[in-house]
Amino acid sequence: MRLVIVGGVAAGMTAASRAQRHNPDARIVVFERGDWISYGACGLPYVIGRQVDTTDDLVARTPAQMRARGIGVRLRHEVTGVDAQAATLTVLDRDSGRTVTEPYDRLLLATGVEAVRPAWAHTDLRGVHVVRQISDVQAIEITLQHARRACVVGGGYIGIEMAEALHARGLSVVMVEQAPEVAGRMLDPDYQRRVRAELEQQGIDVRCAMGVVGLTGKAGQVTGVQTEGGLVRADVVIVAVGVRPQTALARAAGARLGRTGAVAVNLRQETSVPGVFSAGDNTESLHRVTRRKVHLPLALGANRMGRVAGVNMAGGDARFPGVVGTGIFKAFGLGAARTGLTQTEADALGLRAHSVDVSSTDHAGYYQDAHPLHVRLTGEIGTGRLLGAQLVGAVHSVKRVDVVAALLHSRARVPALFESDLAYAPPFSGVWDVLLVAADRLM
Ligand code: FAD
Repeated sequence: MRLVIVGGVAAGMTAASRAQRHNPDARIVVFERGDWISYGACGLPYVIGRQVDTTDDLVARTPAQMRARGIGVRLRHEVTGVDAQAATLTVLDRDSGRTVTEPYDRLLLATGVEAVRPAWAHTDLRGVHVVRQISDVQAIEITLQHARRACVVGGGYIGIEMAEALHARGLSVVMVEQAPEVAGRMLDPDYQRRVRAELEQQGIDVRCAMGVVGLTGKAGQVTGVQTEGGLVRADVVIVAVGVRPQTALARAAGARLGRTGAVAVNLRQETSVPGVFSAGDNTESLHRVTRRKVHLPLALGANRMGRVAGVNMAGGDARFPGVVGTGIFKAFGLGAARTGLTQTEADALGLRAHSVDVSSTDHAGYYQDAHPLHVRLTGEIGTGRLLGAQLVGAVHSVKRVDVVAALLHSRARVPALFESDLAYAPPFSGVWDVLLVAADRLM
Protein backbone atom coordinates (compact mmCIF):
# COMPACT_ATOMS: atom_id res chain seq x y z
CA MET A 1 0.00 0.00 0.00
CA ARG A 2 1.44 3.36 -1.04
CA LEU A 3 0.40 6.23 1.22
CA VAL A 4 1.25 9.66 -0.11
CA ILE A 5 1.18 12.82 1.98
CA VAL A 6 1.35 16.36 0.62
CA GLY A 7 2.79 18.79 3.17
CA GLY A 8 5.43 17.90 5.75
CA VAL A 9 4.80 20.03 8.82
CA ALA A 10 2.42 19.40 11.74
CA ALA A 11 -0.45 17.46 10.18
CA GLY A 12 1.57 15.77 7.45
CA MET A 13 4.42 14.47 9.55
CA THR A 14 2.17 13.41 12.43
CA ALA A 15 0.13 11.46 9.92
CA ALA A 16 3.24 9.87 8.44
CA SER A 17 4.47 8.75 11.86
CA ARG A 18 1.11 7.36 12.91
CA ALA A 19 0.57 5.57 9.61
CA GLN A 20 4.01 4.01 9.84
CA ARG A 21 3.38 2.86 13.40
CA HIS A 22 -0.03 1.47 12.51
CA ASN A 23 1.09 -0.33 9.38
CA PRO A 24 4.87 -0.80 9.24
CA ASP A 25 4.54 -2.46 5.82
CA ALA A 26 2.96 0.56 4.15
CA ARG A 27 5.16 2.59 1.83
CA ILE A 28 4.87 6.21 2.96
CA VAL A 29 6.10 9.18 0.96
CA VAL A 30 5.83 12.85 1.98
CA PHE A 31 6.14 15.61 -0.61
CA GLU A 32 7.09 18.99 0.81
CA ARG A 33 7.65 21.94 -1.47
CA GLY A 34 9.69 23.86 1.09
CA ASP A 35 13.12 23.20 2.60
CA TRP A 36 12.00 21.97 6.01
CA ILE A 37 9.69 19.41 7.54
CA SER A 38 8.34 18.84 11.02
CA TYR A 39 8.97 22.20 12.65
CA GLY A 40 7.08 24.36 15.10
CA ALA A 41 5.87 27.35 13.12
CA CYS A 42 4.43 28.69 16.38
CA GLY A 43 7.98 29.41 17.51
CA LEU A 44 8.87 31.66 14.57
CA PRO A 45 8.14 34.99 16.30
CA TYR A 46 10.29 33.90 19.23
CA VAL A 47 13.29 33.37 16.96
CA ILE A 48 12.93 37.00 15.88
CA GLY A 49 12.49 38.01 19.54
CA ARG A 50 15.56 35.91 20.45
CA GLN A 51 13.82 33.79 23.05
CA VAL A 52 14.76 30.91 20.72
CA ASP A 53 18.31 30.83 19.35
CA THR A 54 17.77 29.67 15.78
CA THR A 55 15.11 28.23 13.51
CA ASP A 56 17.00 24.91 13.77
CA ASP A 57 15.72 24.67 17.35
CA LEU A 58 12.15 24.55 16.01
CA VAL A 59 12.77 21.41 13.97
CA ALA A 60 11.41 18.30 15.68
CA ARG A 61 12.52 15.72 13.07
CA THR A 62 14.85 16.01 10.12
CA PRO A 63 14.26 14.25 6.78
CA ALA A 64 17.17 11.92 7.64
CA GLN A 65 15.50 10.93 10.92
CA MET A 66 12.23 10.25 9.11
CA ARG A 67 13.96 8.23 6.40
CA ALA A 68 15.69 6.16 9.11
CA ARG A 69 12.19 5.26 10.31
CA GLY A 70 11.23 4.15 6.83
CA ILE A 71 9.29 7.25 5.80
CA GLY A 72 10.24 8.72 2.44
CA VAL A 73 10.62 12.50 2.41
CA ARG A 74 11.02 14.49 -0.79
CA LEU A 75 11.92 18.06 0.00
CA ARG A 76 11.51 20.84 -2.57
CA HIS A 77 8.92 18.72 -4.39
CA GLU A 78 5.70 20.56 -5.12
CA VAL A 79 2.55 18.65 -5.94
CA THR A 80 0.94 20.60 -8.76
CA GLY A 81 -1.96 18.34 -9.71
CA VAL A 82 -4.17 15.45 -8.61
CA ASP A 83 -6.00 12.97 -10.81
CA ALA A 84 -8.31 11.20 -8.38
CA GLN A 85 -9.69 8.88 -11.08
CA ALA A 86 -6.24 7.59 -11.97
CA ALA A 87 -5.02 7.98 -8.34
CA THR A 88 -1.93 9.88 -9.42
CA LEU A 89 -0.21 13.14 -8.54
CA THR A 90 1.80 15.48 -10.69
CA VAL A 91 4.94 16.48 -8.84
CA LEU A 92 7.41 19.21 -9.72
CA ASP A 93 10.99 18.75 -8.56
CA ARG A 94 11.89 22.36 -7.84
CA ASP A 95 15.63 21.73 -8.22
CA SER A 96 15.71 19.90 -11.54
CA GLY A 97 12.54 21.52 -12.92
CA ARG A 98 11.33 18.04 -13.92
CA THR A 99 7.72 16.95 -13.50
CA VAL A 100 6.85 13.35 -12.69
CA THR A 101 3.67 11.37 -12.14
CA GLU A 102 3.38 9.58 -8.79
CA PRO A 103 0.77 6.93 -7.96
CA TYR A 104 -0.99 6.60 -4.61
CA ASP A 105 -3.34 4.18 -2.95
CA ARG A 106 -4.34 6.68 -0.31
CA LEU A 107 -3.63 10.38 -0.33
CA LEU A 108 -3.47 12.92 2.49
CA LEU A 109 -3.65 16.63 1.74
CA ALA A 110 -1.92 18.45 4.61
CA THR A 111 -1.17 21.65 2.74
CA GLY A 112 -1.91 24.16 5.50
CA VAL A 113 -2.79 27.78 4.93
CA GLU A 114 -1.19 30.66 3.09
CA ALA A 115 -0.80 34.12 4.55
CA VAL A 116 -3.23 36.58 2.99
CA ARG A 117 -1.46 39.26 0.99
CA PRO A 118 -3.85 42.11 0.20
CA ALA A 119 -3.48 43.72 -3.22
CA TRP A 120 -1.29 46.46 -1.78
CA ALA A 121 1.11 43.87 -0.39
CA HIS A 122 1.71 42.30 -3.80
CA THR A 123 4.93 44.12 -4.15
CA ASP A 124 8.53 43.28 -4.78
CA LEU A 125 9.70 45.95 -2.37
CA ARG A 126 12.40 44.60 -0.08
CA GLY A 127 11.46 44.64 3.59
CA VAL A 128 7.84 43.52 3.20
CA HIS A 129 7.22 40.15 4.84
CA VAL A 130 4.64 37.66 5.99
CA VAL A 131 5.42 35.20 8.81
CA ARG A 132 4.43 31.71 7.81
CA GLN A 133 7.50 29.55 7.45
CA ILE A 134 11.19 29.34 8.29
CA SER A 135 12.27 31.09 5.10
CA ASP A 136 10.15 34.12 6.09
CA VAL A 137 12.10 34.47 9.32
CA GLN A 138 15.40 34.17 7.48
CA ALA A 139 14.29 36.94 5.12
CA ILE A 140 13.14 39.12 8.02
CA GLU A 141 16.53 38.68 9.70
CA ILE A 142 18.24 40.08 6.60
CA THR A 143 15.91 43.09 6.59
CA LEU A 144 16.51 43.67 10.30
CA GLN A 145 20.22 44.21 9.71
CA HIS A 146 19.37 47.72 8.52
CA ALA A 147 15.98 48.42 10.05
CA ARG A 148 15.06 50.82 12.83
CA ARG A 149 11.34 51.31 12.28
CA ALA A 150 8.78 48.56 11.89
CA CYS A 151 5.15 48.59 10.89
CA VAL A 152 3.07 45.52 11.73
CA VAL A 153 -0.13 45.42 9.72
CA GLY A 154 -2.70 43.32 11.54
CA GLY A 155 -3.42 43.06 15.26
CA GLY A 156 -4.22 39.35 15.46
CA TYR A 157 -2.12 37.08 17.62
CA ILE A 158 0.69 36.72 15.06
CA GLY A 159 0.84 40.50 14.59
CA ILE A 160 0.96 40.96 18.36
CA GLU A 161 3.73 38.38 18.79
CA MET A 162 5.71 39.98 15.98
CA ALA A 163 5.27 43.48 17.43
CA GLU A 164 6.70 42.27 20.71
CA ALA A 165 9.55 40.47 18.95
CA LEU A 166 10.54 43.50 16.88
CA HIS A 167 10.30 45.74 19.93
CA ALA A 168 12.63 43.34 21.75
CA ARG A 169 15.09 43.80 18.88
CA GLY A 170 15.14 47.53 19.55
CA LEU A 171 12.92 48.72 16.71
CA SER A 172 10.22 51.32 17.12
CA VAL A 173 6.98 49.55 16.23
CA VAL A 174 3.70 50.88 14.85
CA MET A 175 0.79 48.45 14.64
CA VAL A 176 -1.94 49.25 12.13
CA GLU A 177 -5.26 47.43 12.48
CA GLN A 178 -8.35 47.92 10.35
CA ALA A 179 -10.78 46.69 13.04
CA PRO A 180 -11.76 48.85 16.03
CA GLU A 181 -9.47 46.86 18.34
CA VAL A 182 -6.64 44.31 18.33
CA ALA A 183 -7.17 40.56 18.93
CA GLY A 184 -10.55 41.02 17.30
CA ARG A 185 -11.33 37.42 16.51
CA MET A 186 -10.40 36.08 19.91
CA LEU A 187 -11.90 38.22 22.64
CA ASP A 188 -14.85 40.43 23.52
CA PRO A 189 -14.22 44.16 22.92
CA ASP A 190 -13.42 45.14 26.51
CA TYR A 191 -10.96 42.25 26.78
CA GLN A 192 -9.42 43.36 23.46
CA ARG A 193 -8.89 46.79 25.01
CA ARG A 194 -6.92 45.25 27.87
CA VAL A 195 -4.54 43.71 25.35
CA ARG A 196 -4.23 46.96 23.46
CA ALA A 197 -3.50 48.84 26.70
CA GLU A 198 -0.63 46.46 27.43
CA LEU A 199 0.83 46.91 23.93
CA GLU A 200 0.65 50.69 24.28
CA GLN A 201 2.08 50.66 27.76
CA GLN A 202 5.07 48.69 26.47
CA GLY A 203 5.71 51.25 23.74
CA ILE A 204 3.89 49.89 20.69
CA ASP A 205 2.13 52.66 18.76
CA VAL A 206 -1.23 50.97 18.08
CA ARG A 207 -3.47 52.55 15.46
CA CYS A 208 -6.82 50.81 15.23
CA ALA A 209 -9.75 51.44 12.89
CA MET A 210 -7.21 52.37 10.25
CA GLY A 211 -7.06 50.73 6.85
CA VAL A 212 -3.94 50.45 4.72
CA VAL A 213 -3.98 52.11 1.32
CA GLY A 214 -0.58 51.10 0.00
CA LEU A 215 3.15 50.97 0.51
CA THR A 216 5.83 53.49 -0.31
CA GLY A 217 9.33 52.61 -1.41
CA LYS A 218 12.61 53.94 -2.65
CA ALA A 219 15.16 52.12 -4.80
CA GLY A 220 13.31 48.84 -4.29
CA GLN A 221 13.22 49.11 -0.49
CA VAL A 222 10.02 49.73 1.45
CA THR A 223 9.97 53.09 3.22
CA GLY A 224 6.49 53.20 4.66
CA VAL A 225 2.87 52.17 4.89
CA GLN A 226 0.30 54.60 3.56
CA THR A 227 -2.75 54.38 5.82
CA GLU A 228 -6.09 56.14 5.84
CA GLY A 229 -4.65 58.20 8.70
CA GLY A 230 -1.36 59.14 7.01
CA LEU A 231 2.05 57.68 6.31
CA VAL A 232 3.75 55.33 8.76
CA ARG A 233 7.46 55.33 8.00
CA ALA A 234 9.00 51.87 8.18
CA ASP A 235 12.08 49.93 7.03
CA VAL A 236 10.37 46.61 7.71
CA VAL A 237 6.69 45.82 7.20
CA ILE A 238 5.10 42.67 8.58
CA VAL A 239 1.82 41.77 6.89
CA ALA A 240 -0.22 39.65 9.34
CA VAL A 241 -3.78 40.12 8.17
CA GLY A 242 -4.98 36.53 8.22
CA VAL A 243 -4.63 33.22 6.46
CA ARG A 244 -6.45 31.30 3.77
CA PRO A 245 -6.67 27.48 3.50
CA GLN A 246 -4.68 26.04 0.62
CA THR A 247 -7.36 24.04 -1.17
CA ALA A 248 -6.22 23.99 -4.81
CA LEU A 249 -5.27 20.30 -4.71
CA ALA A 250 -8.45 19.31 -2.89
CA ARG A 251 -10.49 21.11 -5.52
CA ALA A 252 -8.48 19.48 -8.29
CA ALA A 253 -9.24 16.10 -6.74
CA GLY A 254 -12.95 16.96 -6.71
CA ALA A 255 -13.19 17.14 -2.92
CA ARG A 256 -15.94 19.22 -1.42
CA LEU A 257 -15.09 22.42 0.42
CA GLY A 258 -17.15 23.47 3.41
CA ARG A 259 -18.98 26.69 4.18
CA THR A 260 -15.80 27.98 5.83
CA GLY A 261 -13.81 27.64 2.60
CA ALA A 262 -11.63 24.89 4.06
CA VAL A 263 -11.76 21.23 3.01
CA ALA A 264 -14.82 19.36 4.32
CA VAL A 265 -14.12 16.02 6.01
CA ASN A 266 -15.90 13.48 8.17
CA LEU A 267 -14.68 12.52 11.64
CA ARG A 268 -12.18 10.10 10.02
CA GLN A 269 -10.61 13.01 8.06
CA GLU A 270 -11.94 11.56 4.81
CA THR A 271 -12.88 14.03 2.10
CA SER A 272 -15.82 13.50 -0.25
CA VAL A 273 -13.43 11.67 -2.61
CA PRO A 274 -12.74 8.02 -1.71
CA GLY A 275 -9.15 7.41 -0.70
CA VAL A 276 -8.38 11.12 -0.27
CA PHE A 277 -7.91 12.47 3.27
CA SER A 278 -7.35 16.01 4.47
CA ALA A 279 -5.91 17.24 7.78
CA GLY A 280 -4.52 20.34 9.40
CA ASP A 281 -4.92 24.03 8.71
CA ASN A 282 -6.44 23.45 5.25
CA THR A 283 -9.31 21.48 6.81
CA GLU A 284 -12.53 22.22 8.67
CA SER A 285 -13.33 20.72 12.04
CA LEU A 286 -16.40 20.33 14.19
CA HIS A 287 -16.93 22.88 16.95
CA ARG A 288 -18.24 20.83 19.84
CA VAL A 289 -20.03 23.72 21.52
CA THR A 290 -21.94 24.98 18.48
CA ARG A 291 -22.00 21.71 16.50
CA ARG A 292 -21.04 23.77 13.45
CA LYS A 293 -18.08 23.32 11.14
CA VAL A 294 -15.29 25.83 11.76
CA HIS A 295 -11.91 26.65 10.33
CA LEU A 296 -9.55 27.16 13.27
CA PRO A 297 -5.98 26.85 12.00
CA LEU A 298 -4.15 25.98 15.20
CA ALA A 299 -1.39 23.56 16.02
CA LEU A 300 -3.00 21.03 18.35
CA GLY A 301 -5.97 20.56 16.04
CA ALA A 302 -3.61 20.11 13.07
CA ASN A 303 -1.60 17.48 14.94
CA ARG A 304 -4.74 15.68 16.07
CA MET A 305 -6.22 15.64 12.59
CA GLY A 306 -2.93 14.35 11.22
CA ARG A 307 -2.86 11.58 13.80
CA VAL A 308 -6.38 10.46 12.93
CA ALA A 309 -5.75 10.66 9.18
CA GLY A 310 -2.52 8.67 9.54
CA VAL A 311 -4.20 5.82 11.41
CA ASN A 312 -7.12 5.67 8.96
CA MET A 313 -4.95 5.85 5.84
CA ALA A 314 -3.01 2.90 7.16
CA GLY A 315 -6.16 0.82 7.59
CA GLY A 316 -7.15 1.67 11.17
CA ASP A 317 -10.17 3.41 12.56
CA ALA A 318 -9.69 6.67 14.45
CA ARG A 319 -11.93 9.73 14.87
CA PHE A 320 -11.35 13.42 15.50
CA PRO A 321 -14.32 14.59 17.53
CA GLY A 322 -13.53 18.28 17.11
CA VAL A 323 -12.43 21.41 18.91
CA VAL A 324 -13.91 23.86 21.37
CA GLY A 325 -12.18 26.98 20.08
CA THR A 326 -9.36 27.28 22.58
CA GLY A 327 -6.59 29.79 21.96
CA ILE A 328 -3.91 31.59 23.92
CA PHE A 329 -1.24 34.19 23.25
CA LYS A 330 1.25 36.42 25.02
CA ALA A 331 1.54 40.16 24.66
CA PHE A 332 4.56 41.34 26.65
CA GLY A 333 3.65 40.82 30.34
CA LEU A 334 0.09 39.82 29.55
CA GLY A 335 -1.42 36.50 28.60
CA ALA A 336 -4.80 36.26 26.87
CA ALA A 337 -6.78 33.07 26.47
CA ARG A 338 -10.21 32.00 25.38
CA THR A 339 -12.18 28.83 24.92
CA GLY A 340 -15.67 28.04 23.68
CA LEU A 341 -17.60 31.14 22.71
CA THR A 342 -17.19 34.77 23.66
CA GLN A 343 -20.35 36.66 24.55
CA THR A 344 -20.08 38.40 21.17
CA GLU A 345 -19.89 35.08 19.32
CA ALA A 346 -22.77 33.58 21.31
CA ASP A 347 -24.91 36.63 20.51
CA ALA A 348 -24.04 36.39 16.81
CA LEU A 349 -25.17 32.75 16.84
CA GLY A 350 -28.48 33.73 18.42
CA LEU A 351 -27.81 31.82 21.65
CA ARG A 352 -29.36 33.06 24.87
CA ALA A 353 -26.08 33.66 26.64
CA HIS A 354 -25.01 35.66 29.65
CA SER A 355 -21.61 36.35 31.15
CA VAL A 356 -20.08 37.32 34.46
CA ASP A 357 -16.77 39.08 35.03
CA VAL A 358 -14.43 38.49 37.91
CA SER A 359 -11.35 40.60 38.45
CA SER A 360 -9.02 39.30 41.10
CA THR A 361 -5.37 38.31 41.37
CA ASP A 362 -3.59 35.35 39.83
CA HIS A 363 -2.67 34.00 43.25
CA ALA A 364 -3.31 34.84 46.89
CA GLY A 365 -3.21 38.61 47.24
CA TYR A 366 -1.01 38.39 50.32
CA TYR A 367 1.66 36.38 48.50
CA GLN A 368 4.39 38.31 46.67
CA ASP A 369 3.98 39.45 43.05
CA ALA A 370 0.23 38.96 42.78
CA HIS A 371 -0.97 40.32 39.43
CA PRO A 372 -4.44 41.25 38.22
CA LEU A 373 -6.40 38.49 36.51
CA HIS A 374 -9.66 39.11 34.66
CA VAL A 375 -12.05 36.31 33.80
CA ARG A 376 -15.26 36.36 31.81
CA LEU A 377 -17.33 33.22 32.02
CA THR A 378 -20.22 32.69 29.62
CA GLY A 379 -23.13 30.30 29.97
CA GLU A 380 -26.45 29.55 28.34
CA ILE A 381 -29.55 31.01 29.97
CA GLY A 382 -32.10 28.33 30.82
CA THR A 383 -29.95 25.23 30.34
CA GLY A 384 -27.04 26.42 32.48
CA ARG A 385 -24.67 25.00 29.88
CA LEU A 386 -21.14 26.32 30.00
CA LEU A 387 -20.40 28.20 26.77
CA GLY A 388 -16.96 29.71 27.16
CA ALA A 389 -14.34 31.67 29.04
CA GLN A 390 -11.91 34.49 28.40
CA LEU A 391 -8.96 35.33 30.61
CA VAL A 392 -6.51 38.21 30.54
CA GLY A 393 -3.78 38.49 33.14
CA ALA A 394 -0.18 37.65 33.96
CA VAL A 395 1.23 35.39 31.26
CA HIS A 396 1.04 31.95 32.84
CA SER A 397 -2.07 32.59 34.91
CA VAL A 398 -4.36 32.45 31.87
CA LYS A 399 -3.45 28.82 31.12
CA ARG A 400 -6.18 27.87 33.61
CA VAL A 401 -8.47 28.33 30.60
CA ASP A 402 -7.79 24.62 30.05
CA VAL A 403 -10.07 23.73 32.94
CA VAL A 404 -13.02 25.25 31.09
CA ALA A 405 -11.87 23.79 27.75
CA ALA A 406 -11.90 20.28 29.22
CA LEU A 407 -15.40 20.79 30.63
CA LEU A 408 -16.67 22.12 27.30
CA HIS A 409 -15.71 18.83 25.67
CA SER A 410 -18.24 17.07 27.86
CA ARG A 411 -20.90 19.77 27.35
CA ALA A 412 -20.80 20.43 31.08
CA ARG A 413 -23.07 22.85 32.91
CA VAL A 414 -21.79 25.75 34.98
CA PRO A 415 -22.30 23.92 38.32
CA ALA A 416 -19.83 21.26 37.14
CA LEU A 417 -17.15 23.97 37.01
CA PHE A 418 -18.14 25.31 40.41
CA GLU A 419 -17.97 21.81 41.92
CA SER A 420 -14.53 21.06 40.45
CA ASP A 421 -11.80 20.31 42.95
CA LEU A 422 -9.20 22.76 41.67
CA ALA A 423 -5.67 22.88 43.06
CA TYR A 424 -4.88 25.54 45.63
CA ALA A 425 -1.84 26.91 47.41
CA PRO A 426 -1.12 30.65 47.92
CA PRO A 427 1.60 30.94 45.20
CA PHE A 428 -0.86 29.59 42.59
CA SER A 429 -4.37 30.91 43.26
CA GLY A 430 -6.85 32.02 45.86
CA VAL A 431 -8.53 29.23 47.78
CA TRP A 432 -11.57 29.98 45.64
CA ASP A 433 -9.93 30.23 42.25
CA VAL A 434 -11.25 33.00 39.97
CA LEU A 435 -12.90 30.33 37.80
CA LEU A 436 -14.82 28.99 40.80
CA VAL A 437 -15.88 32.50 41.82
CA ALA A 438 -17.06 33.19 38.27
CA ALA A 439 -18.98 29.90 38.09
CA ASP A 440 -20.63 30.62 41.44
CA ARG A 441 -21.83 33.99 40.17
CA LEU A 442 -23.03 32.60 36.85
CA MET A 443 -25.13 29.79 38.36
P1 FAD B 1 1.50 23.97 7.72
O1 FAD B 1 2.32 24.11 8.94
O2 FAD B 1 1.10 25.21 7.00
O3 FAD B 1 2.26 23.01 6.71
C1 FAD B 1 1.78 22.77 5.44
C2 FAD B 1 2.94 22.41 4.53
O4 FAD B 1 2.43 22.00 3.29
C3 FAD B 1 3.87 23.58 4.24
O5 FAD B 1 5.18 23.30 4.63
C4 FAD B 1 3.77 23.77 2.73
O6 FAD B 1 5.00 24.13 2.15
C5 FAD B 1 3.33 22.39 2.28
N1 FAD B 1 2.62 22.40 1.01
C6 FAD B 1 1.53 23.14 0.70
N2 FAD B 1 1.15 22.89 -0.57
C7 FAD B 1 2.01 22.00 -1.07
C8 FAD B 1 2.14 21.36 -2.34
N3 FAD B 1 1.29 21.61 -3.31
N4 FAD B 1 3.15 20.49 -2.52
C9 FAD B 1 4.02 20.22 -1.50
N5 FAD B 1 3.95 20.79 -0.29
C10 FAD B 1 2.95 21.68 -0.08
N6 FAD B 1 -0.88 27.58 16.51
C11 FAD B 1 -1.16 27.43 17.83
O7 FAD B 1 -1.97 26.56 18.18
N7 FAD B 1 -0.54 28.20 18.77
C12 FAD B 1 0.35 29.17 18.44
O8 FAD B 1 0.91 29.84 19.32
C13 FAD B 1 0.65 29.37 17.06
N8 FAD B 1 1.53 30.31 16.67
C14 FAD B 1 1.80 30.47 15.34
C15 FAD B 1 2.69 31.46 14.97
C16 FAD B 1 3.01 31.63 13.62
C17 FAD B 1 3.94 32.71 13.23
C18 FAD B 1 2.42 30.78 12.65
C19 FAD B 1 2.78 30.96 11.19
C20 FAD B 1 1.53 29.81 13.02
C21 FAD B 1 1.21 29.63 14.36
N9 FAD B 1 0.30 28.67 14.78
C22 FAD B 1 0.00 28.53 16.12
C23 FAD B 1 -0.40 27.81 13.81
C24 FAD B 1 0.31 26.48 13.62
O9 FAD B 1 1.64 26.72 13.30
C25 FAD B 1 -0.40 25.71 12.53
O10 FAD B 1 -1.69 25.38 13.02
C26 FAD B 1 0.31 24.44 12.10
O11 FAD B 1 1.58 24.70 11.62
C27 FAD B 1 -0.51 23.78 11.00
O12 FAD B 1 0.15 22.67 10.50
P2 FAD B 1 -0.22 22.07 9.08
O13 FAD B 1 0.64 20.88 8.91
O14 FAD B 1 -1.68 21.91 8.95
O15 FAD B 1 0.15 23.21 8.03
